[in-house]
Amino acid sequence: MTVRIAIIGAGLAGLTLACRLRSKAQVKVFEKSNVVGGRLSTIRSGGFEFDHGAQYFTIRSEAFRKFLEPALQHGIVVPWDPHIVTLEIGREAIVEPREETIYVASPGMEALCAHLAEEISVTIDTEIVSCKRKKNAWQPVKANGDFLEEFDWIVSAAPPHHSLSWAPEFFADGITFDHVRLRGCYSLMLGFEDAVPVSWQGAFVRNSPIGWMAVNSHKYGREGGPSLLVQCSGEWTEEHLECASENIEVMLSNELKNLTGIDITSAKHCELFRWQYASIAVPLGLDCLFDPEAQLAACGDWCIKGRVEGAFKSADALAARLFAVLPQ
Ligand SMILES: Cc1cc2nc3c(=O)[nH]c(=O)nc-3n(C[C@H](O)[C@H](O)[C@H](O)COP(=O)(O)OP(=O)(O)OC[C@H]3O[C@@H](n4cnc5c(N)ncnc54)[C@H](O)[C@@H]3O)c2cc1C
Repeated sequence: MTVRIAIIGAGLAGLTLACRLRSKAQVKVFEKSNVVGGRLSTIRSGGFEFDHGAQYFTIRSEAFRKFLEPALQHGIVVPWDPHIVTLEIGREAIVEPREETIYVASPGMEALCAHLAEEISVTIDTEIVSCKRKKNAWQPVKANGDFLEEFDWIVSAAPPHHSLSWAPEFFADGITFDHVRLRGCYSLMLGFEDAVPVSWQGAFVRNSPIGWMAVNSHKYGREGGPSLLVQCSGEWTEEHLECASENIEVMLSNELKNLTGIDITSAKHCELFRWQYASIAVPLGLDCLFDPEAQLAACGDWCIKGRVEGAFKSADALAARLFAVLPQ
């Protein structure tokens, strides 16, 4: 009998795992949002486009390169070649030499996950709030209380605190995920009538509420007017996560003015987005969670490192573990 696996979350980790397993098992992915991609996401708003989550990614391992080969060939993953500087108030900008190629998905960041999802069964608008153990099967429960069909395995590929709140405290070998800590992030999205008035396309910022800025419209495939994406540092966001958005906007616009001279009132479009979970302050420290007895597992960037490639690595490692126990 074909093993039935439910995967919670259609971000890169969940879809990588589904692609890896689909020839060995009957895989279904459940996604709470109405699109796939998770933190690989592009917002289209007011005639502008903004990658408000992941900015770009690396391809360091051979396994990730091989996995992305079809997407690279189809122009869904493309290199991005920005001029990057480091900025700090009161100091000259430092040009950052780039030692490796960096990549984005095109036409928007979610395009990579949309491509992976093409041959996978993905049910969107379906938040899984718990999973009930019934003899040898698991039954996921939706937010409205409805039960889904039975599965042999449940894999969470979502940030753990909500998506695994129902799971036993300990996985095999007494492993827990209590210590994992995620950080939020504010993304300020600015659209301009004319070119964004800066001499760079990417800027790391030191000693500031702002951690990174990018001329989003410079990335290949982005449509709409000139756009600037401003992201806060994880530490600053952590301290200000519950502040009113109007106050955040004022603080960021003052900082932006001091750093670049840009007056936010000159922007045609201004929008703030708050990520509750963006980066990983304390990872699990293992490549995945795996419990063959309970037939329960978890993967995602939070296991290894808060990076796109970290999400892939975690899912790839879990696929290898599952391969070893699934019937041949
Ligand atoms: C602001 C920001 C900037 C970043 N910058 C970079 C960068 O420059 N470079 C880089 O490499 N990485 C960056 N990252 C990190 C990168 O986006 C992540 O590491 C990667 O996308 C994580 O993939 P994932 O599949 O593990 O998780 P996610 O993308 O978070 O996917 C999890 C999915 O699970 C879904 N989900 C959650 N709970 C449930 C539930 N109960 N039921 C059903 N579905 C559920 C979510 O909706 C989501 O789609 C950034 C992230 C953010 C937010």
